Amino acid sequence: MIDPRRITLLNNCRDASGTVIYWMSRDQRVRHNWALLFARKKAEQLQQPLKVVFTLAPSFLNAPLRHYDFMLKGLQEVERALRKLNIPFYLVQGEPEIELPRFAREMKAGVVVTDFSPLKISREWKRRVGAQLPLPLYEVDAHNIVPCRIASGKQEYSARTLRPKINALLGEFLTGFPEPDRLDSPNDYPPVDWNTHFSRLKADHRVAPVTWLEPGETAAGACLDSFLQNRLCFYAKERNDPNSGALSNLSPYIHFGQISAQFIALQVSKTDAPEYDRAAFLEELIVRRELSENYCCYNNHYDSLEGIPSWARESLMKHAADYREYIYTPDEFEKGATHEPLWNAARHELVTTGKIHGYMRMYWAKKILEWSESPEQAFNTALFLNDRYALDGRDPNGYTGVAWSIGGVHDRPWFERPVYGKIRYMNASGCARKFDVRRYIARFEEKKSM
Ligand SMILES: Cc1cc2nc3c(=O)[nH]c(=O)nc-3n(C[C@H](O)[C@H](O)[C@H](O)COP(=O)(O)OP(=O)(O)OC[C@H]3O[C@@H](n4cnc5c(N)ncnc54)[C@H](O)[C@@H]3O)c2cc1C
Repeated sequence: MIDPRRITLLNNCRDASGTVIYWMSRDQRVRHNWALLFARKKAEQLQQPLKVVFTLAPSFLNAPLRHYDFMLKGLQEVERALRKLNIPFYLVQGEPEIELPRFAREMKAGVVVTDFSPLKISREWKRRVGAQLPLPLYEVDAHNIVPCRIASGKQEYSARTLRPKINALLGEFLTGFPEPDRLDSPNDYPPVDWNTHFSRLKADHRVAPVTWLEPGETAAGACLDSFLQNRLCFYAKERNDPNSGALSNLSPYIHFGQISAQFIALQVSKTDAPEYDRAAFLEELIVRRELSENYCCYNNHYDSLEGIPSWARESLMKHAADYREYIYTPDEFEKGATHEPLWNAARHELVTTGKIHGYMRMYWAKKILEWSESPEQAFNTALFLNDRYALDGRDPNGYTGVAWSIGGVHDRPWFERPVYGKIRYMNASGCARKFDVRRYIARFEEKKSM
């Protein structure tokens, strides 16, 4: 049963007779996907065929090869899984506002369904597509457990204000999923020519794919199983220790929609891990993650310093001209050319693995604030590096994480100090109190060739 509160009609058109198209965008998976389930239901009600299409923009917010590789390999698995259900999958390359209406005309569509994202680029695509289509464009929030617009109709101040709203609705939305069933139609449609699509990409090849994390829905499920069996039971105690390996590593899968946060939450609730470990993990997965969705949905300036609260902006501006012991350019940050081995190790972790441990991520961003010429430059540098190298970059969590670290978003004013103003401060001795800093540096120190 799909809760109708997940669904928003984005234009004023009515269901017409013709193929039902699921324009898959953010939720790139076959199981546990409310948007696919809704499209399947529509096809059944209207007695029409169902087709799934992914529009591949030749460049997306400067995503490099690392990201395209992870995504396209995941989509190859989507194609195979859909074929088993007799649901045709198409990949069309080009700008969505041109390609999607063209595809809908070609397929004689009657209804188009898509999934939800609070990001501006995605909202703009949907606005343009919805305006051109003479058919209904439905958006289904398949990414959030409590649909973003239902959880709250405004920008929330902090986790403290969103948490009760989410908790009040969780019982209604944290439900199980039906399996998508097989269609009777013959699967005689052409396979996607992946080699051609890979070869046409305009992505930057200097940021290479990672090998330690396998992309796709199956690998995401295996990653979840390994976390539930081996690490969830010490998550609460050790999640702030980057050497302990307590984290789930699920963020790249969640980002590309290769696994559903709702499914993860259901599986976590079924384990016999201690209650405080489950609660600590679910706080991050549900409240903190959905708070980021809320921030991006209701604050149009989520990707710049303009979005931060006025107390933080005033305080940062007051300290903008403060003396800085070290100043690095964006290029020096990118190369890891700072004086501090701990920061350089975090940068090396990011560049080589496509991820920084959650605790080090805060430290990494705060030091960019401390050592940049201005808060604006710090914000832009942190966002640029996060999006360029982190596999889970370009995500509401990334925009909000940078805005939290550098701009006090969802945080409170702290004691005033140079450069930071009232933004929460972090330093290396604080890290040393939490974990073995030398061990972390030894793990991620860049070995410079002689
Ligand atoms: C400067 C900065 C940049 C960040 N950039 C990103 C980013 O680009 N993409 C991204 O997904 N997360 C980002 N985060 C949030 C967080 O650090 C990551 O979600 C987490 O490290 C992902 O690793 P994991 O899945 O192993 O985490 P786990 O601790 O196992 O958490 C499980 C899931 O909970 C959610 N989660 C955990 N911590 C947070 C948090 N602080 N805020 C919101 N959701 C959270 C994520 O969905 C995560 O996958 C950033 C945080 C900071 C401070």
